[in-house]
Amino acid sequence: MPAYSRVLLKLSGEAFGGGQVGVSPDIVSSMAAQIADVVAQGVQVAVVVGGGNFFRGAELQQRGMERDRADYMGMLGTVMNCLALQDFCEKNGLDTRVQTAITMGQVAEPYIPRRAERHLEKGRVVIFGAGSGMPYFSTDTVAAQRALEIGAEVLLMGKNGTDGVYDSDPATNPDAVRFDDLSYDEFLARNLKVADATAISMARDYKLPMVFFSLDVEGNIVKVVAGERIGTTVHA
Ligand code: UDP
Repeated sequence: MPAYSRVLLKLSGEAFGGGQVGVSPDIVSSMAAQIADVVAQGVQVAVVVGGGNFFRGAELQQRGMERDRADYMGMLGTVMNCLALQDFCEKNGLDTRVQTAITMGQVAEPYIPRRAERHLEKGRVVIFGAGSGMPYFSTDTVAAQRALEIGAEVLLMGKNGTDGVYDSDPATNPDAVRFDDLSYDEFLARNLKVADATAISMARDYKLPMVFFSLDVEGNIVKVVAGERIGTTVHA
């Protein structure tokens, strides 16, 4: 039995590439099949897609680009992931719509929240791309905002390379400890980097629960929607 009726699923861009630049069809196909399982259980699914497998504005800035233009490149990268996910969702028999925050009528609808809700009510998967359309934001923050605007009950933060929130970076500290539960305030006080502070503070201000979990394990999307205790839950 699913634990939720409407969820916002954030899929990190890096997961789409399996750690490489570009899109791994096998990985996207697996994510789409899991989303199809969840939709078959009657859960309404909206997705915010990241773009770190193509470009991150901050990294391009370090290499000499203007930040705002680099961020637009980052946002355009997310749209390629959206189209890949849409393709594999449709191969799994799902009805989907991509909505982008930067208008590009040939490939996607513009972001229209009420229309997105209608799609969800009809059982369509809505995939949000191009971030917020604004530089200096992250797709994690967009995920919190979209979750609130469409009335999702939970924000499910699918990450690759980590299975939750740790007290320090497990890549550099072998003694890092994973939290099962964490308050928004503690997340912010510890300055943890697995999501940016803007996303966490927005979730805190509007009491939106978040679950951080790994996309590297097949079946985790189904488990987290079923309310199984995987990863780290962040709440009040
Ligand atoms: N981005 C942006 N505004 C937004 C969302 C994203 O400028 O509202 C840019 C930013 O440069 C970011 C890139 O798009 O680095 C890719 O998004 P993100 O890093 O959040 O993707 P993820 O970490 O989930 O792969």
